Parts: sequence; C-alpha cells; structure tokens
Amino acid sequence: MERCPQCRARLGPEALCPRCGADLTLAQRAETESVRRLHRALTAFAVGEHQMANAHAQAALRLHRTPFTAVAACWLKDQTQEPPQSSRSPKHPRMGLFRRIFGACNNTKTEH
Ligand SMILES: [Zn+2]
Repeated sequence: MERCPQCRARLGPEALCPRCGADLTLAQRAETESVRRLHRALTAFAVGEHQMANAHAQAALRLHRTPFTAVAACWLKDQTQEPPQSSRSPKHPRMGLFRRIFGACNNTKTEH
C-alpha cells in the first residue's frame, strides 16, 4: 500500500498513517494475504489444479483488487470454464492485455 486510503498521504512501513493517524493494520494484512493467495493460485494452476487456482484467485481479488489481480483472476476463471482460446482472438477483453504482459504463458500450458 503506497498511499493512505483515507487521506491519500504517502505511506511508509508503519501501520499508522503519518498524516491522519488511520490504523492500516487490517488493510495491510488483507493486501499481504491477497498476494499470498495469488501466488497460491498461480502455483495451483502450474500443477493443473485449475479449480483450486480459481478459488485462490477469487479470494485474492476479494481481499485486494489491483489491475494485475483482476486480470489474473479473470484469466484463471476463463481457464477453469472453457478450453483455451486462440491467442489471435481473445475471448475476454482483458485477455489480450494479459497475453501481451505474460506472453510466455501461452507456451507453458499443460495438456489435459
Ligand atoms: Zn491517512
């Protein structure tokens, strides 16, 4: 978390906002847990546990929504619901962005 969600002050590692004094402990824990769940999602996906990957990704998204988490969760959800789509015609609008950012993912899909 770079800025206080209450007053937008720039934050350091402290749990209290230096400007407004808001206690950000729970927000910081949610952010940390979101990253942890996203890592678990990607690990689960890598070993073919797609339903588990989707569950972790959705939990990560509920804990802390970021553009990366949203795209990753969307992509993982698509992977658990439908067969992979051609890279030339992304089904979901954000899928093209994800593939541009993580182009190598197209080469690491596992066969089922
Ligand atoms: Zn503040």
